Amino acid sequence: MTTPWHGGSAAVATLTFDVDAETPILAQGRRYADHVMTMSHQSYGPDVGVPRILDMLDELKVPATFFVPGWVAEHRPGLAVSIAERGHEVAHHSYSHRSPTSMTAEEERADFERGLEVFAAQDIEIRGHRAALWGASQQTPDLIAAFGLAYDSSLMGDDRPYRVATATTAIVELPVHWSLDDWEQYAYLPDPHIGAVIESPAKVAEMWRAELMAMRRYRCLFNLCVHPFLSGRPSRIMALRGVIEEALELGDVRFARCRDVAAAVNSDPTMQPRTLTPPPATPDVYPD
Ligand code: ZN
Repeated sequence: MTTPWHGGSAAVATLTFDVDAETPILAQGRRYADHVMTMSHQSYGPDVGVPRILDMLDELKVPATFFVPGWVAEHRPGLAVSIAERGHEVAHHSYSHRSPTSMTAEEERADFERGLEVFAAQDIEIRGHRAALWGASQQTPDLIAAFGLAYDSSLMGDDRPYRVATATTAIVELPVHWSLDDWEQYAYLPDPHIGAVIESPAKVAEMWRAELMAMRRYRCLFNLCVHPFLSGRPSRIMALRGVIEEALELGDVRFARCRDVAAAVNSDPTMQPRTLTPPPATPDVYPD
């Protein structure tokens, strides 16, 4: 079945780059700010990875979406603007990169709002959000709608876009999955411990390519999540480039920014919102 978001293609590819920089490490403890090697491992992302990725996207002429924590945009003035000026989308990725599931509802709201304030001060229009660590809470979709954004990209309830009911207007979900995230493949740091095995880029490309081929059969959203501090490294960006080039050669994979997919989903009256209800887990069966 063809739908507006497919735009006539077999599958749609959203290349998403989470420009986390130091935030996932600082979220585990401010003390890591003094750990020079660890901070340099993270700053490689915006300093080396992002320019390399932007050049690759220019060469291949494909659009992408960059999810940026507000803290990163604030402390690197010009970074988010330079991404937007290259024709790509900048989207909200929390302020501090602390997972909503680790915060109170008030803390999550304050963090969400503070991130948006940074982008507003830099004149960057924000349409979508991705929760830090994909750790969306029950109130995250409500916040996204309440602040006028169109979409989220943190959940895994499908491999095609879907709409989610909130306390106000419905939002679009552009679902993710661990198998399409480079973190599980490449992340390694001894302290804090953020991963144990560094996989071969050839293996990663093979896995992503296999998923893309199957997603053309099932008419899915190939929503790839890439971190510049990980995939900005030479052999890894070459592997990513190979996957993109192969998709372009197929001729039936459309590359789009997340905001454009979300707008197409919202233009489709047949996409009824789903209600996110927690399962009926009672304390007699499932203690905390
Ligand atoms: Zn992130």
